[in-house]
Amino acid sequence: AVMVGRRVRSRRRWWRVVRAVDEFEEAALTPVGRLKQVVDAMAVEMHAGLASEGGSKLKMLLTFVDSLPDGSESGIYYALHVGGTYFRILRIQLGGQKSILGHDVERKPIPQHLMTRTSEEFFDFIALSLKEFVERTGNNSQYSQGKDLGFTFSFPVKQTSLSSGTLIKWTKGFSIDDMVEKDVVECLQRALSRRGLDMNVAALVNDSVGTLAVGHFYDKDTVAAIVIGTGTNACYLERADAVIKCQGLLTTSGGMVINMEWGNFWSSHLPRTSYDIDLDAESHNSNDQGFEKMISGLYLGDIVRRVICKMSLVSDIFGPFSSKLSTQFALSTPLMAAMHEDDTPDLSEVAKILEETLDIHDVPLKARKLVVKVCDVVTRRAARLAAAGIVGILKKIGRDGTGGITSGRVKGVKSGKMRRTVVAVEGGLYTSYTVFREYLNEAVAEILGEEIAPYVILKEMEDGSGIGAALLAASNSARSVDTVQ
Ligand code: BGC
Repeated sequence: AVMVGRRVRSRRRWWRVVRAVDEFEEAALTPVGRLKQVVDAMAVEMHAGLASEGGSKLKMLLTFVDSLPDGSESGIYYALHVGGTYFRILRIQLGGQKSILGHDVERKPIPQHLMTRTSEEFFDFIALSLKEFVERTGNNSQYSQGKDLGFTFSFPVKQTSLSSGTLIKWTKGFSIDDMVEKDVVECLQRALSRRGLDMNVAALVNDSVGTLAVGHFYDKDTVAAIVIGTGTNACYLERADAVIKCQGLLTTSGGMVINMEWGNFWSSHLPRTSYDIDLDAESHNSNDQGFEKMISGLYLGDIVRRVICKMSLVSDIFGPFSSKLSTQFALSTPLMAAMHEDDTPDLSEVAKILEETLDIHDVPLKARKLVVKVCDVVTRRAARLAAAGIVGILKKIGRDGTGGITSGRVKGVKSGKMRRTVVAVEGGLYTSYTVFREYLNEAVAEILGEEIAPYVILKEMEDGSGIGAALLAASNSARSVDTVQ
């Protein structure tokens, strides 16, 4: 009787685990109807953010990029990319006619402690690394030609010109408090002179803007760009007269790239679960970057960790409770992806990762399967929400086949004039996580429908943001954009 009692109890506990996963799956569902609501909400918020300062959680920031590279750029340029776990330095030699003759890159992890100290220490480290790179890659004569630097800074910045702007807030775990509201280029420029480097920061760009620039360099139909890496964001080419909050914006081309900062997008249509609420509450920046926390690489692994934690609390299927399960970020997104994509018949990779990162041992196969399912739910939701965001942008600019939005009302008329539309995509989740990429592509096609989907092409841009900053430094160094107020 005792044996039977134990078996019944443990079976009952197993059902609690299954129920926890089912409830999570249900709360995280993204049927196409819901995605379309997100599409509409995105387009509406874009309008609101363009209409007035603070009109939406979407900041819709001006970038002062009014013309995109067309392939004719030439010369030697440097670029610095700061924004995620790594920072990158590169030097490219442009030969005109869309050709890149030379390309050196260096990638370095940003020491964790520098992400939370002073701006001076942070920029000194960057300037020193740049100096070493310049000395190594450029012989003297080339260095004297290549002095212009494109600076990709992947945080929300209020730009005052193409080469100046102040940091609005930090995201992605950075928190160097004395930097907020300071001019980012000034900080860098000062550090460069402290190190005796005579270089000119010719363009300050968000990584999404860099990605758009490089996308356009290769393909003129590129109208928007998305980054889905540690953080997430999007930018696109807007008509200057649609930027209502900045009346009299004069640009030579009549257009301007808008940095949406879509990581901060919010809508009641987003399928938010109790795990998202806890993740947000325990983050550095709660009530901020809500969309980003459901989509990007810094967070996906942590959502999975939270669900496994719950599964372990309601049953003994994972053995004694491991304290690692309550450690924030104990499971990184790359390891979560590795579990998700484990194709061994007994899910041995899942077992190994659970053991090595979360200190959970001897997990039975049926529980490993559930862990894979949780990874799938989290990734699928993230990819499909990002897809809805993309279609939201297409809707705003009238490239979703429905004629766009006029004064807040959605016109449902098919224009029949759909043009080839390219969206450049950068970031590890898209470029290195196959299942994520497939879910995203699939959802874009599902939302657009089979008639329109063939016109929309998502193009992967490896290292696009860095190259893009160098291209913008090249193509815009002689241009100017004026704001008349
Ligand atoms: C930042 C954006 C950036 C994105 C992708 C977000 O956290 O706010 O500026 O483009 O991450 O790196």
